[in-house]
Amino acid sequence: MGQTQGTSWLCPAEADRARLLDMERRIKPVRAAAMGILGAALIASGPWVGWWPVLVLLVSLAAFAVVDRGIEKAPRPEYRMAAGWALSQLLIAGSIVLSDGLHSPALCWLAIPVVTLSSRFSNRGVAAGLVLTIGLLLAVTIGLDHQAVMDDPSNLIFALGAIGAVGMLTTPLMVSDQAHRSDARIDALTGLLNRHALELRIAELEMQADGGDVTIGVIVADLDHFKAVNDAHGHATGDDVLRGTADRLRTHGRAFELIYRIGGEEFLVLLPGASLQDTIEHAEALRCAVGSRPIGDVPVTISCGVSASEVGAFDFQRVFGRADAALYEAKQAGRDQVRVRTLDDAATALARTAA
Ligand code: GH3
Ligand code: MG
Ligand code: MG
Repeated sequence: MGQTQGTSWLCPAEADRARLLDMERRIKPVRAAAMGILGAALIASGPWVGWWPVLVLLVSLAAFAVVDRGIEKAPRPEYRMAAGWALSQLLIAGSIVLSDGLHSPALCWLAIPVVTLSSRFSNRGVAAGLVLTIGLLLAVTIGLDHQAVMDDPSNLIFALGAIGAVGMLTTPLMVSDQAHRSDARIDALTGLLNRHALELRIAELEMQADGGDVTIGVIVADLDHFKAVNDAHGHATGDDVLRGTADRLRTHGRAFELIYRIGGEEFLVLLPGASLQDTIEHAEALRCAVGSRPIGDVPVTISCGVSASEVGAFDFQRVFGRADAALYEAKQAGRDQVRVRTLDDAATALARTAA
């Protein structure tokens, strides 16, 4: 089974990538304004420090334009972002070299991009960015003229202090942002992702699938006769059954991020990169896993409806509509089973309605 995404060193969880892309959308317009301010500062000090730094800023703008292009569709946008970020630091380091090294007024500007590290990346990305920044700072000061640093290291010390303080002070914002995002996306009862998380993921997947070469499988799973469980054993036991079902789905799922609780006792599994056949097999495995033994004293079964997108086009509402219709068929046919709706089935049903 191929995957369109997956985790990476910079984005250890899928949620990290969603945050990165969301923050990228928010940073972009502000970044343009910030670059404008820096540009104005450079032009105003041009007569004294020269015009090279202005050129460097323009190159930096062009670099970000290249990085931004198609970032939403890139399978690993974090590395593209990181490359753009590192390039901007290199360019600032370049302007420092061109404007008097240790005595350059731009020395502290290396701290500015550090602000955006924690809004994009998690701890390891921030750490890697700080290491690069400090390395560059040392290169353009000690590396360029170590004697000047020995004579008066205060500029280097101030710049190190600014970089370290900015890195530290933005970390609580990152932690708080991550926690709030997680709270908003997680269903409190089962710990699975909720509808809000699903909507975010769909928007992302629809964009990425557009024109690509993979299909996306969708499974809608619903507990059978769950109302009777509540009626016979009470709501608290019903909740235990929901938690137990979620655990089994999670244990047998491909990744936690792809399983959602979308209703009371209804779950949705998204399988990016899965063919229809893969999705059917996966649904069957989930059905067997959930029904394998009672949860507490309560025997449980689920019914599943399955469908998959066309290659290169993921219209969630349509695929979900087919999977939901298949779920209805599974219920009608006696429950505890997997039913499938293909694109052809949908076309046949449509023709039947039209006739
Ligand atoms: P079917 O096999 O056709 O799906 O029958 P069902 O009884 O599972 O479906 P129905 O939609 O009639 O009932 C769903 C029940 O799920 C009704 C509702 O009380 C219960 N439910 C929804 N959310 C929760 C919850 O968070 N906790 C508990 N304990 N029950 C819930
Ligand atoms: Mg049900
Ligand atoms: Mg239901």
